[in-house]
Amino acid sequence: MFPPRSRLRGVTAAEELENGIIGQIRTQVLRSMMSAERLVNPGSGEEDQQVEKSLRPRRLAEFIGQEKVVEQLKIAIAAAQGRSEPLDHTLLYGPPGLGKTSLAGVLANEMGVNIKLTSGPAIERAGDLAAVLTNLQKDDILFIDEIHRLNRAIEEVLYPAMEDFALDIMVGKGPSARSLRLKLPRFTAIGATTRLALLTSPLRDRFGSVMRLEFYSDDALFDIVLRAARILGVETTDDGAREIARRARGTPRIVNRLLRRVRDYAQVVGGGTITLEVARDSLARLEIDELGLDENDRRLLRAIIELFNGGPVGLSTLAAALAEEVDAIEDVYEPFLLQLGFLQRTPRGRIATRRAYEHLGLPYTERINPDGSEQARLW
Ligand code: ADP
Repeated sequence: MFPPRSRLRGVTAAEELENGIIGQIRTQVLRSMMSAERLVNPGSGEEDQQVEKSLRPRRLAEFIGQEKVVEQLKIAIAAAQGRSEPLDHTLLYGPPGLGKTSLAGVLANEMGVNIKLTSGPAIERAGDLAAVLTNLQKDDILFIDEIHRLNRAIEEVLYPAMEDFALDIMVGKGPSARSLRLKLPRFTAIGATTRLALLTSPLRDRFGSVMRLEFYSDDALFDIVLRAARILGVETTDDGAREIARRARGTPRIVNRLLRRVRDYAQVVGGGTITLEVARDSLARLEIDELGLDENDRRLLRAIIELFNGGPVGLSTLAAALAEEVDAIEDVYEPFLLQLGFLQRTPRGRIATRRAYEHLGLPYTERINPDGSEQARLW
């Protein structure tokens, strides 16, 4: 079956991103993953899609931060253009909201080619992918979001497409069935995933370059706030912008969302300008703490500490205790808590660290294992 036209169209990168098709797919998936809408949820909501389209960087020069990845991409673009070839297949991975979709659009713009957007969950049958592939034109970029969610049978169709630019299709049934090989135009696949470990190794091996997006530094987020404020026409002082950047969990999508909430507050109580005081007040009202954690993060840490004595606690037990999906915990909550050093992932489960206790103002007692070693040292 062919996917509905709205899932895939051959249009310019700008148009495609403008329409936010990929955002819609992602919203559905993330909606089902999140029990409640969160301000610091790095997934995109409907309101986000509208604003995101105006805030998305379109050229590499506008893409703030991620210097290592940007440097690698600049070289890849120059090399591909020098050879008059499409870019190598590229896999981007990292937590949601760090700019994977934006980067794919930027690459299409820099290469001057069309981008077609789809996602793992949107491709339900091998025929859906075949339809996508046969619609590609020479040099097009095919962006596959959440590529780890492609099922195995569909992956098999992708292998020869990426490797030999060919599509193998079976014609007929039973003894008279035979395989036909269709030639595809040369294209570039850009895969995006939040969970590299879930990708099968044959699929991972088909990507010429694999790039990891990191959480952004406060300085990079500060520049992103200033840029977004300029585009949205919001006045902000440097220390106001810095305060928002500091509490955005290293994630541009969250920084943009906080900026909008603080802007509302500034408009109503602060005369329209985002000052340090306005930023502090409104973030406190939103219950986003000094480190950018919200009530859900604190609930997760408190559950480990209070219900499971600090851990280790298995992921599925923790998810059940919090009435959350395992995927939501792994994709949305954990990456930043791990980065802060508040959580440890161990073979026996999750452990809350001393820093987590301290942040929540709870007393930490050194836990000693039966062999006398300190628990943390075991891992
Ligand atoms: P992902 O695909 O990784 O979930 P997106 O590419 O959708 O993330 O990025 C989310 C939003 O964050 C974008 O709409 C854009 O406004 C902003 N953004 C992401 N990366 C950057 C960046 N490097 N510079 C400026 N804004 C960015």
